[in-house]
Amino acid sequence: MSRKPIIAGNWKMNKTVSEAQAFVEAVKNNIPSKELVDTVIAAPALLLAPMNYLRQGTDLQLSAENAYFENAGAFTGETSPAAIADLGIEYIVIGHSERREYFHETDEDINKKAKAIIANGVTPIVCCGETLETYEAGKTAEWVEGQITAALKDLTPEQVSNLVIAYEPIWAIGTGKSADANTADETCGVVRATVEKLYGKNVSDAVRIQYGGSVKPENVAEYMSKENVDGALVGGAALEAESFLALLDFV
Ligand code: PEP
Repeated sequence: MSRKPIIAGNWKMNKTVSEAQAFVEAVKNNIPSKELVDTVIAAPALLLAPMNYLRQGTDLQLSAENAYFENAGAFTGETSPAAIADLGIEYIVIGHSERREYFHETDEDINKKAKAIIANGVTPIVCCGETLETYEAGKTAEWVEGQITAALKDLTPEQVSNLVIAYEPIWAIGTGKSADANTADETCGVVRATVEKLYGKNVSDAVRIQYGGSVKPENVAEYMSKENVDGALVGGAALEAESFLALLDFV
């Protein structure tokens, strides 16, 4: 089964509007064709509109880093998935471990967000991943299976086929300590097996699964060579234009 690779940078809470604009100008004409790879930057909400303006007509795709599960209303400080969709932004990351840890997002919130995002015609990038303690206790598979089962609750097979799942061991995010490629492949395989159990083989063959956790230009090709790894979600190495473009050299 061949799935189109998806490389997504996650800027977290970094860059000003002018820095983001300079980045888009630097990369936009050097992005490989989207026939070959989906190349995405997930940026803070405030940066999306100016970045969207500058990337028109190029193969650079955009993602929000979060959205609320309602489209409008008295939710001061939240970002509407309908407003993100209206800009033409392609993806929204949900359930990143930093959102779960610092902003107390639950599996139930993530499931509601997935439904709201899909209803707006945007693709969720659904994150999952275990703590070091869970990893060391040998409980990664059951943890990830539980997170994915909860995040996908009540979605249809067609909706699940089209989404992106990012497996990111928390102990590997921003630590420089990446999971080795076989471990990443094995746990991405657990994610795929969970999707198969819930939705059948056609859906699990179609869903795209990224690995995230200290991916950089020097190790991205090894992850991408693995059967169950269809892409990468990249923090630190996606902040500078040169390094971000180098992540795409494997294409
Ligand atoms: C991330 O932000 O999701 C991430 C994986 O960060 P880093 O690549 O810096 O580990």
